[in-house]
Amino acid sequence: MTTDNRKNRSFSRRKFMKTAAAAAAGGALLAGSAHGMSKPESKKRHKRASNPDPDLMLVNGRIHTMDAAHRIVSSVTIKDGRFVEVGYSHRHPQGSGTRVIDLRGRTVVPGIIDNHNHMVLMGNRPGHHTPLENAYSIPDVQAIYAARAAGIPHGAWITTVGGFHSNHIYANPADATSGRLPTRAELDAAVPNNPAFIEIGFTGPAVTNSAGKAIFESQGITVSDTGAMSGNNPSRALLYLRQTLLTPAERRRSVIDAMNYAASVGVTTHLDQGAFQATNTASDGAAHEDNFTMHIPFLEVYGQGDGIVRLRINFLHMESDPNTPELVQRLKNAFPFFGDDMVRTGGIGEFIAQGTSATSPFAAAAQKVAQAGWRAEVHSLGRRQTATSNPADFELEIMGFEAANAAFPGIVRETRWVIAHVPGITQEWIDRLQTIGGNLSLTGWQYLAGNLPTSSVAPYAGPPFRMIVDSGDRPDGIHSGMSSDGMQIAPMNPWLHMYYATTGLNARRVLINPGQQITRQEVLGLYTSRNGWFLHEEEQLGSIEEGKLADLVVLNSDYFSVSDDDLKKIRSVLTVVDGEVVYNAGVLRWHGG
Ligand SMILES: [Zn+2]
Repeated sequence: MTTDNRKNRSFSRRKFMKTAAAAAAGGALLAGSAHGMSKPESKKRHKRASNPDPDLMLVNGRIHTMDAAHRIVSSVTIKDGRFVEVGYSHRHPQGSGTRVIDLRGRTVVPGIIDNHNHMVLMGNRPGHHTPLENAYSIPDVQAIYAARAAGIPHGAWITTVGGFHSNHIYANPADATSGRLPTRAELDAAVPNNPAFIEIGFTGPAVTNSAGKAIFESQGITVSDTGAMSGNNPSRALLYLRQTLLTPAERRRSVIDAMNYAASVGVTTHLDQGAFQATNTASDGAAHEDNFTMHIPFLEVYGQGDGIVRLRINFLHMESDPNTPELVQRLKNAFPFFGDDMVRTGGIGEFIAQGTSATSPFAAAAQKVAQAGWRAEVHSLGRRQTATSNPADFELEIMGFEAANAAFPGIVRETRWVIAHVPGITQEWIDRLQTIGGNLSLTGWQYLAGNLPTSSVAPYAGPPFRMIVDSGDRPDGIHSGMSSDGMQIAPMNPWLHMYYATTGLNARRVLINPGQQITRQEVLGLYTSRNGWFLHEEEQLGSIEEGKLADLVVLNSDYFSVSDDDLKKIRSVLTVVDGEVVYNAGVLRWHGG
C-alpha cells in the first residue's frame, strides 16, 4: 500500500473505531472490514460540522516545524484535525468559532512519536499506576504519591510497575550515588490510606507500605520490615494485583491514565511493540500480558471517542516451534498497517521468533514475514566481546534479513524492516543493513541503569548515536529514528532520552556513552520528522506542515537553550492531537471557540 492510498482514505475514523472495537471484542482483532459502519458519530467531533472557521489558532510562538528547511514560525492554524496554515495566519482569519491561544513566545515542537514502546502494557497495569520516572528524590516520590492518593478512593491501590529506577531517586539530592527506593515508613507518611506497590523493571526489587504489607502477607507473600520485597515476591505480588484488580473497566481507566501521562510529556504517537505472553503464574513479570486480548481496552477507549493519543500496534511473536504456527496464522488472518489516523496495526515485532541463533526459527520466520509482505521489527541488546568471539544478535538478525531479502528481493527496503536498540552495532554492520534498506530505532534506555561495558569492541554503553546519525547523513544513508522502549525498563518521558542522547550521561551523571553524543536538533528530528517513516506516515506525522495531521506540543521551557539538567524537567503545557487540546496545564490564555 502506498502512502497516497492512505492519504485518500475516505471512511471516518469514528466509524472505523467502532467497528474495530466490536471486531476485537468478538475475537477478530482488528480484522474489521468496511462492513457495519453505520454507528453514530462520537460526542467529541461535533465542532467539525460545516463551519468554515478555523478550529484553533496558536499565535506568538517559537514554533519549530521540523520541516526540511527547519523553519521556525510564529503561528499555526488548524482545521478539521490538520494544519491549514503554518507561518503567520493571514489566509484563514479567525472566525466566531475559532479558539485563539497566545503562546507568549513559548517553544513549540511537533507531537513526539515514540517508534518503539510498550504503551499497551502500561495501559493494562493493575491499580492506579503512577509513573515515577520524573522523581529525583524520596520527597518527590512522596509528593507524587500523595497527589495520586488525593484523586482516588481510600483503600485503592497505588502502583508503579517499572519505567523508573532507584538510580535517580536520590536520598540526598547532592549525592548521585545515594539512589534508593523509599521505605515502608516513607510511603506510609505519603499515602497512609492506600496500599502501595512500587516495582523496578521486569521483576523488582519492590517496596510496599504498611497497608500493602498486610494484604501481601495475608497471601503468603514475604515483605521485610522496611517494606522491601525481593526474590520472586515482587512477581507474586504483581500476579495477585493483576488477578484481583484487572476488571475490564479498570483496564479502560488504566488506558486513559496512560494516555493522559503521555500527553503531559508530549508523546502523541506510540508504536507499541507487544508483550511477553502471559502465563498467569508468578513467573510473569511487568512485561507479560496476553498478546491476544491486551489491545481490547485500548480499542474500547478509542471506540468510545476517548482516545487522546495515537496508537500503532505491532504483533509480537516469540515461538520456539520451528513451524511458528501462531506467526503463520497471524500473517494469514490480520492486516498490516490497517486502521485509521488514531489507531492502526503495524508489522511483526519486536520479536518474530524465539532467539536469533542458527538453530532458532529466526531465519525461517523472517522468510515467512517477507513472503507475506509484512514488516519485521526485531531488537538487539548484544555486542561482540572481542573481534573473534561469537556473532552478536544484531549480526545474526542482519544475516537473517539479508537472506529474506535475497529470497524476496526488495522486501526489506519496501516494507522498512527495523532493528531496535542496537547498543553494540558497528559501522560494518550498519553499512550491511543500509545496503538492503534496513532501518534502526535508537533508544536512551541505558540512561536508567546503564554503565560502561567491559567490551573493547564498543567502549561505550550505546547506542552509537553519533556513528548512526552520521551514517544517515550520506546519500542513501541508513534511516534511523528515536524511541523510549518504555515503560518497564525505561521511562516514556522523551526528554530523558534526549538528555541521554545529547550528553551521554546516565541517571547517576556518569558519562557512559562518550564520543557518541548528538545535538538537540538531531535527536528531536529522530523523535519527530524521522519517525513518521516507522509508521509509514511520514506524509502525515512528524512535522508541522500544511496538510499534515495537527499534533504539537507547547513546552514549559525552551528545549534549545535550557541547561542539560533542565532538559529532564521539560514538560508539555499544552498538547494538541488531531487538532484538539488533549492536555492543558493551565498556564496559557485563550479566547474564542
Ligand atoms: Zn521493546
